[in-house]
Amino acid sequence: MKPRADITPHIFKIQRYSIHDGPGIRTTLFFQGCPLSCSWCHNPESQAAPVRIGSQNRDVTAPGQVPISPVQVKDLVEILVREIKKDLIFFDESNGGVTFSGGEPLSNPRLLLPLMDACRQEHIHICLDTSGFAPFTVLKEAATRADLVLYDIKVMDNLAHRALTGKPVDLILENLKKLSDLKINLKLRFPLVPTLTDTQENIGRIIDFLVKETIYRDIHILPFHNTVDGKYRMLKMENHCKHLHPPTDDQVENIQQIFVASGFQTTIGG
Ligand code: SF4
Repeated sequence: MKPRADITPHIFKIQRYSIHDGPGIRTTLFFQGCPLSCSWCHNPESQAAPVRIGSQNRDVTAPGQVPISPVQVKDLVEILVREIKKDLIFFDESNGGVTFSGGEPLSNPRLLLPLMDACRQEHIHICLDTSGFAPFTVLKEAATRADLVLYDIKVMDNLAHRALTGKPVDLILENLKKLSDLKINLKLRFPLVPTLTDTQENIGRIIDFLVKETIYRDIHILPFHNTVDGKYRMLKMENHCKHLHPPTDDQVENIQQIFVASGFQTTIGG
């Protein structure tokens, strides 16, 4: 019997009728495994210990990730495309499509790239939702297959980024500059986490960087919410943001106005 697509060790969730992961109604596939460990992560299951399947667990390349063989890729791409195509009618009616999210989809290019190719063959609109933390060669392969890239920008200071996400930010910023040089269609996503990402200094540095180094002026502000504590408890993972409260409407609007005053187009959420 073939496995159900949403319980493979490579895709931990398929979410239908998503309206916050790109334009229109979308089917979002969440890839298992992420090289980052953001303190505020809403998908901690992407970093949780992978399901054990025989001896395949030896070569984990990102926390929570399981390697995949070429045979598995072929089977899984077929299964996943079949699942995605069940929602074609909604995509057509809403100008939606598929979004590859995670975890970090770029952590599994062996599956991601053939899957993107298969969706392109079906003329399905593709969004790539990424932290940008990947070798540029991989990012470029995926970004040039996508119709739209959703790219996180979180914290500009290298040490602070490392403290909050487990990795430095310089690769992410270098990659963003290179995508800009290639004129990749891209929207930014900024997680507004009170006291962690919303300082005047951080916002100022984000704006300076984007204005000086990139063509990107469209930013989605994602207000932190603390509704995932149950997930952390279930997974026996520490929730570092348990003590934080969501930003107030005024706080969100203040940040929005700072971006708007610098010429940015802003969206709250999505
Ligand atoms: S990049 Fe996204 S999935 Fe990965 S740890 Fe950060 S918030 Fe979670």
